[in-house]
Amino acid sequence: MIERDLRGRGIKNPKVLAAMEAVPRHLFVPEKLRHSAYDDRPLAIGAGQTISQPYIVAFMSELLALNPSDQVLEIGTGSGYQTAVLAELVRAVYSIEIVPALHDRAGKILDALGYKNVEIKLGDGFFGWDERGPFDAILLTAAAPKIPEPLWRQLRENGRLVMPLGKERRTQKLIRVRKSAGKKIMEDFSDVLFVPLRGAIEKPPR
Ligand code: SAH
Repeated sequence: MIERDLRGRGIKNPKVLAAMEAVPRHLFVPEKLRHSAYDDRPLAIGAGQTISQPYIVAFMSELLALNPSDQVLEIGTGSGYQTAVLAELVRAVYSIEIVPALHDRAGKILDALGYKNVEIKLGDGFFGWDERGPFDAILLTAAAPKIPEPLWRQLRENGRLVMPLGKERRTQKLIRVRKSAGKKIMEDFSDVLFVPLRGAIEKPPR
């Protein structure tokens, strides 16, 4: 997987490659799908949600341009796989999941693997985690039509936010936004397909 799907497709950051190598992906996948755990595709993890494909996990981790001293917020814990990859790369990872069953399962696996620099909570990631911020990097692993305002506020100056941006269910753009003198410096990358962000963002303002 590391050679064929990651290095072979342009993932260069040695720290990201080492993190991908260190995390046992099969433990984050439901038992009956374990034989497919290292295929380069997303897999169903229950509750209509998916664990992202390895290439995308690596690519997003690279885009975050992480430093070991960083404090990172992830929205959409899901299986906890991306959380673990981030935990290999930085000082502290905070992750929020809205589906209780997924939150519980991810917590058990991350504990069993001994990650001490991870804190997770159940809730709507739209609002971020003010008490733990500001963050050097924020990653959304569910798609939204715009950047949730509370997350932008919780991003530190020079911080990076990576997310699938778009209104369409069938395709979104992976974007990276840097906070530079309080302004948004936006870059866009490949087309991607993520599940939509649920919760507050779905409800139109009145
Ligand atoms: N990072 C995950 C990918 C999971 S898919 C992994 O590596 O497995 C996206 C996840 O976002 C789903 O688990 C979904 O339940 C969650 N999600 C959707 N809307 C959310 C919200 N508003 N707040 C937090 N999590 C949310």
